[in-house]
Amino acid sequence: MKPIDLAVPGVQGLTPYVPGKPIGELERELGIRNIVKLASNENPLGPSPLALAAATRVLPELHLYPDGGGFELKDKLARKLGVTSDQITLGNGSNDVLELVARAFLSPDVSAVFSEHAFAVYPIVTQAAGARAVVAPAHSGTHGPQYGHDLKAMAEAIGPDTRVVFIANPNNPTGTYLGRAELANFLRALPGHVVAVVDEAYFEYVSEPDYPNALSWLPEITNLVVTRTFSKAYGLAGLRVGYAVSNPLIADLLNRVRQPFNVNAPALEAARAALDDDEHLARTAQLNEVGRALLMQELASCGFAAIPSVGNFITFDVGRAAGAIYEALLGEGVIVRPIANYGLPNHLRVTVGTAEENLFFLAALERVLSV
Ligand SMILES: *Cc1c(COP(=O)(O)O)cnc(C)c1O
Repeated sequence: MKPIDLAVPGVQGLTPYVPGKPIGELERELGIRNIVKLASNENPLGPSPLALAAATRVLPELHLYPDGGGFELKDKLARKLGVTSDQITLGNGSNDVLELVARAFLSPDVSAVFSEHAFAVYPIVTQAAGARAVVAPAHSGTHGPQYGHDLKAMAEAIGPDTRVVFIANPNNPTGTYLGRAELANFLRALPGHVVAVVDEAYFEYVSEPDYPNALSWLPEITNLVVTRTFSKAYGLAGLRVGYAVSNPLIADLLNRVRQPFNVNAPALEAARAALDDDEHLARTAQLNEVGRALLMQELASCGFAAIPSVGNFITFDVGRAAGAIYEALLGEGVIVRPIANYGLPNHLRVTVGTAEENLFFLAALERVLSV
């Protein structure tokens, strides 16, 4: 038998996640340096110096296994978030936690609901578990932000076999978000057989007054899992550390399928130290607000409709298949993200960079458009 025939049915039809193009790869292809990567929503300021120092301090002890229970990081997170340690599940990135949810709650006889244009990991973990994916249409733009999650459509997509609903708030790649009242109503109305995952990967970037902190609903909604990460605003994507906050009964289930040492020692230490650097986080958010406003304005003056974003990235409509512009930007040394795999073939997603990186991208875009 061919290997494909030996794989479980979910894996047979699976398309792997396509990450942003690595800088080293483009360097090798083009033989150029000074590449600007605005493709993976990384923090252009880098990690906090406190996090770097903490990670470095552990290096002489790399022969030791990390603390598999992540005691100190969980303890610090719990204090900061106003929850208890037994509510926290650490992951090798929040991606890991999403996978733990799928492993614990999804199987071939149940389904998971998520929105059109939602984060690509939801369909992957759903399908890998052999569960059925039910995709709710996104807002068309008449009753809510165009391309954003339509909670009414998502509620209608929930059936007797639904076990998990994935909600990205804000969503990547659209940058759209759900307001407090709207999301609270949706979560409170969920049937008891559904686990709700609210993915807050960009939580630290959002400043809208009606943007909810989903942790506030944990005391009243038992089947709620809130995921966050150190990869985005905390600038630690390379170390891979994220976490879920939930009811302790759910955390216990996630822990049963978790690898014993899923978060490495430098990651545990760096994340803990990063929590002390409020100033780095504030500078990160500030740089992002300014850069995002500039990019929105300049994309509009190029004639591109950009989706209003509350995150550290902007998705914009180039009015035709975006592949050629993506390729031409690569030739200019700028890596952005084509998102045809999200059902948005005419859009590109660009991460907000430093002031210099944003200008470099805009100048490259102008050159590309003028030929
Ligand atoms: C980036 C991202 C994540 C996961 O990132 P990790 O590095 O695995 O923590 C999760 N959800 C969304 C919506 C993201 O954009």
